[in-house]
Amino acid sequence: MSDEYTKELIKQFIERCRAHSLKITPQRLAIYRELLKLQVHPSADAVYKNMVRDFPTISFDTVNRTLLTFAEIGVVETVESHSGVRRFETDLEPHHHLHCIKCGEIIDFCDSDLDAVEVPERIADEFTVIGKRVVIRGICRKCAEKDEDGEKTQPSKGKSQKAMPFAEV
Ligand SMILES: [Zn+2]
Ligand SMILES: [Zn+2]
Repeated sequence: MSDEYTKELIKQFIERCRAHSLKITPQRLAIYRELLKLQVHPSADAVYKNMVRDFPTISFDTVNRTLLTFAEIGVVETVESHSGVRRFETDLEPHHHLHCIKCGEIIDFCDSDLDAVEVPERIADEFTVIGKRVVIRGICRKCAEKDEDGEKTQPSKGKSQKAMPFAEV
């Protein structure tokens, strides 16, 4: 992420907080910066663990509540991971996700063909659509490489799961 882009996001963050009369405390700003830095749709727990070194007095509860407040005012979005833990998104532009079923990483990708996928009319009729995103489940390169190493030393039992694409609307 470029410095310029980070600066722009922080500017938007501050404007949004002001618009919602949310005080911009150094702690809130630090939490948002940490989110931007992590870039992997972190969970509240991951944000907390990364921050506690620099902010030893911060509690998990504070981080969690702050992130939920951010989601309420729309500076971040929440993303459900497949383990059921709420994860946070700072990139509010349309994009799609790769979910690794092994390490749980959620990787962003852009594709104009997928952006152009239309919501079926029968869904749009009874469901107010506010966004759509394609989620592709599978195994990331890092995990696949780890698997290969493992297979060399010990014969694997059964094949790894196949990637299963499905759409989140
Ligand atoms: Zn992985
Ligand atoms: Zn994302």
